[in-house]
Amino acid sequence: MSDTTVQVLQTGRVQVSPRLPFQTGSNQLAVVLCPKRRRIWLPVSVYLVRTSHGSLLFDTGWGTTIRGNQHAYLHFPNYVPNTGELPQGQELVTLLAGCGVAPCDLDVILFSHLDLDHTSGLLEVAGPGIDGAKKVLVCREEWDAAEKSHVRYVQDMWKGVDVTTFEFDDTGFGPFGRSKDLYGDGSLTAVWLPGHTAGSTGLVVRDLQSGHFLILAGDCGYGHQSWEQMVQPGLAVDRAQLETSLAWLHEQARDSRCIDVLACHDAGVSPQLIQVC
Ligand SMILES: [Zn+2]
Repeated sequence: MSDTTVQVLQTGRVQVSPRLPFQTGSNQLAVVLCPKRRRIWLPVSVYLVRTSHGSLLFDTGWGTTIRGNQHAYLHFPNYVPNTGELPQGQELVTLLAGCGVAPCDLDVILFSHLDLDHTSGLLEVAGPGIDGAKKVLVCREEWDAAEKSHVRYVQDMWKGVDVTTFEFDDTGFGPFGRSKDLYGDGSLTAVWLPGHTAGSTGLVVRDLQSGHFLILAGDCGYGHQSWEQMVQPGLAVDRAQLETSLAWLHEQARDSRCIDVLACHDAGVSPQLIQVC
């Protein structure tokens, strides 16, 4: 049996415009300002990836602070399009404990990007004073964008955390030929998938014996329809880049060795354990 597994975990959900997932032609302002009564709920997934190199957490989902005053916590403009909900029992630390993993057992946290529904849980697994994850990784493009913008990003979510930025290498792998082989053996490869944000990052999890692989796509799409039918979401920072990123996922998904491609907010994906073999 393969020693590479991906546990899909869901830290609550996020309420968004129904135009967000698969409505390319929407007015972006209308997507942001959609009235609450018309919004839909989508899951907020994170992934515990276990390989012979240890445990990697891809994104950190909602933290428990979301249960308080969201208006203040998410900073007003972000609260409008991104209301969150974190039911009891779906806290990140609780979900990890259910997998037998304490925060200090995490070797790496890798971010798909730094939007608030992906970073809110970070302080609970790597914050100051916590015996937490050994390393927190984000690509430089995303870090630079997130440190600059106080409209989209909430810098308090990584305040006091020792975040390591990395540069993608020009490997020829990925939609723009830029990727980072995290362990030098092809088992875990971060891939630059820009478009949703400047530094959006996917993770290719590969079983080295069979060559089979699973792709964690972050928010590059909102479900299989995104890359199977090349449907962009209602919001993007760069549609041309996103088109290229989705086209690459489309091609990968058709590869016979590809087990699946998973989007963070795919309403059709439930918590589950996936063997990559
Ligand atoms: Zn998201």
